[in-house]
Amino acid sequence: MASYRDLLTETKQRIRETTPEEAESQLGNATFLDVREQDEYDQGTIPGAVFIPRGHLESQAETKLGRDRDEPVVVFCAAGARSAFAADTLQQLGYTNVASMIGGFGRWKNEGRSWITPASLTTEQRNRYGRHILLPEVGEAGQQKLLESKVLLLGAGGLGSPAALYLAAAGVGTLGIVDMDVVDASNLQRQILHNIDRLGERKVDSAKKTLTALNPDVDVVTYDVRFGADNVLDIIDGYDVIVDGTDNFPTRYLLNDASLVKRIPVVHGSIFRFEGMVSVFKPYDGPCYRCFLPEPPPPELAPSCAEAGVLGVLPGIVGSIQALEAIKLVLDLGDPLVGRMLAYDALEESFRTFRIRRDPNCPACGPDVDEIVIAEYDDLCLPHAVLVDGSTT
Ligand SMILES: [Zn+2]
Repeated sequence: MASYRDLLTETKQRIRETTPEEAESQLGNATFLDVREQDEYDQGTIPGAVFIPRGHLESQAETKLGRDRDEPVVVFCAAGARSAFAADTLQQLGYTNVASMIGGFGRWKNEGRSWITPASLTTEQRNRYGRHILLPEVGEAGQQKLLESKVLLLGAGGLGSPAALYLAAAGVGTLGIVDMDVVDASNLQRQILHNIDRLGERKVDSAKKTLTALNPDVDVVTYDVRFGADNVLDIIDGYDVIVDGTDNFPTRYLLNDASLVKRIPVVHGSIFRFEGMVSVFKPYDGPCYRCFLPEPPPPELAPSCAEAGVLGVLPGIVGSIQALEAIKLVLDLGDPLVGRMLAYDALEESFRTFRIRRDPNCPACGPDVDEIVIAEYDDLCLPHAVLVDGSTT
């Protein structure tokens, strides 16, 4: 029977080892894999390292290291023994370019190489987000990413209500909300952020109360202003994703153009009577709102929901899908609705997906556009153009 030492010696003959010095030259190129235990990882690791405790290596390698098994991987533990066994296992799993770091994190740190204390979740957070953490595609790192993410919601109404509630519950760390309305009794049929005690209150204040009560981890930033050409670029600056819950064409065009300037993806949602639509407009990666709809339909074909009515649960479904798409974008998960329009029919109870393409002649995201004009639109969508630098033409 082989002793531990024999086993280690034998294993090391099957793998490649690398010094911390050689490994450091691979930073940014190779994936650094930390195979220690949670408490060791919490106390410090190599910047950018992927964390898979040795015991979970086989089950989590594919989701956390990616499918390309020829990419370079540097495995490390505390002193270089567990990483040798881990490197051997990875080779058995088909990884072709694996090295175990001699001396492990201890030697790396002693030699004065850079390391960080990874942001880690509190015990309460591990409990609150436990169902996220169980998903290997999210995990603690994904939850941390959500907590560091910033999502802006346009509107605290029918679509914004469910979107905000689910984003807050999911632990999106910063939720911006733009709305200049007050809570009215006729909102309560669908705008579930608000309630009867808040009638007459600013919607952003009511939203902040509801969301903070749901999850104190969330910093709710309110914008009790009219969203216009004069402030759009300032408001959206710094957000990772924008969830559009507006109900009018002028604001959608304004948001579209500003999001192209700032290169922030927009999760579009719209509702009409018994039908809803969702898409993701990811600047220069897929079509934009103008590629989809170069001109607004004439007013008689596009009555607002104030005129046409909307079934109460419908915005709950559409807004929830918007929240889901926003989370996917933050976590770089799955296939977001880029270049696709999801259409939901509540009466048929059917979902259909339509492909939408980038328009090479798009006046906003086309290749011939030199400068995007951030313009104010009236209901007919006639622009009163304001240039990006704020000057008026
Ligand atoms: Zn476009």
